[in-house]
Amino acid sequence: MRPIRPGDRGPAVTEIRTVLTGLDLLPPDAGDEFDVATERAVRAFQQSRGLSVDGRVGAETWRALDAARWRLGARTLYHAVPEPLTGEDVRSLQERLLEMGYDVGHADAIYGIRTSRAVAQFQREVGLKPDGSCGPHTMGALRRLGRKVVGGRPQWLRESDAIRQSGPALVGRTVVIDPGHGGTDPGVVVPDGPLRWSEAELVHDLASRLEGRLAAAGVRVQLTRGPTPATCLPDTDRAQLANSLGADVFISLHTDGHANPEAEGVATYHYGTDNGVTSATGERLAGLVQREIVARTGLRDCRTHAKAWDLLRLTRMPAVRVEVGYLTSPADRHRLVDPRFRDKVVEAIVAAVQRMFFPIERDVPTGSIDVSELRAVVAAGAVMD
Ligand SMILES: [Zn+2]
Repeated sequence: MRPIRPGDRGPAVTEIRTVLTGLDLLPPDAGDEFDVATERAVRAFQQSRGLSVDGRVGAETWRALDAARWRLGARTLYHAVPEPLTGEDVRSLQERLLEMGYDVGHADAIYGIRTSRAVAQFQREVGLKPDGSCGPHTMGALRRLGRKVVGGRPQWLRESDAIRQSGPALVGRTVVIDPGHGGTDPGVVVPDGPLRWSEAELVHDLASRLEGRLAAAGVRVQLTRGPTPATCLPDTDRAQLANSLGADVFISLHTDGHANPEAEGVATYHYGTDNGVTSATGERLAGLVQREIVARTGLRDCRTHAKAWDLLRLTRMPAVRVEVGYLTSPADRHRLVDPRFRDKVVEAIVAAVQRMFFPIERDVPTGSIDVSELRAVVAAGAVMD
């Protein structure tokens, strides 16, 4: 779908404006023009939802706007099959349950089986019929109890426990690597004399190198796309693929771009919202990836950030998106086009994935894991078997 953008008019714009008015981001009136005030409101909305802030309504923003119509308490929520209920009210409910220590996974705004089970558990504990659907009685109980227990983030502990209990070995893990863009979408493209560098090609090369290194350490690896796919897979499908493979870790690879050639450096993103809800293990993985890359490559540290992008929201395992340098920066580009540099990036990510499975008390200093030793350990294990 072509994004709806400033200057557009019509019923779709009216609809967007109605939702934004309902969210108190736009004063009410019956206009159908995507004017400056609408653009400002769209930007504010995108910012509040952790979406990319571009002031246009593309597919991802449209879905978020559509889901934002529902306020918690306005309808009864239940686990509908096969088409689950989605919406802002579901997200609010999940965030409240998370804050209270119930296991709903991510606050992904989808009323799935896990949310339904968490609601049933809550109902049982407050003496309501545990039917797993959230109607007026359950809402009343949530309102009475919800406020008292805000602040803790028990989900953090739950997720890290699951990782810790699974042991430190890399052998037998499943890692899904997601080279961004592809097909009709080359990502950032920069001409360089007679050459032309594209993000889609560079990140696929990085992904293939990473695949080789992880496979050598005994990890099962799956890429979300080949080098030259016919079409560009949407982020929702990439997340779905990782879920269906039961991945332990999901790593999406991108390079950044900016009109200012001086913008440079590496940044890593994990799931989280403005309300402070975050994936604990995602945040930890992002921190490890970011620190290892900075330490081993010397790229400028643009830090880690929480985002509610579909890719990070819908994946059920620790998931990060790494923007490895700016292709538009001559300094970063010069490094990225060097295969030896790309190997260093890959070693950094392998070290981060390994540290992810160490118990926190056994963690090692950044930059200290010799990735070639992981391979030796696997080889030794294979001989002993
Ligand atoms: Zn990209």
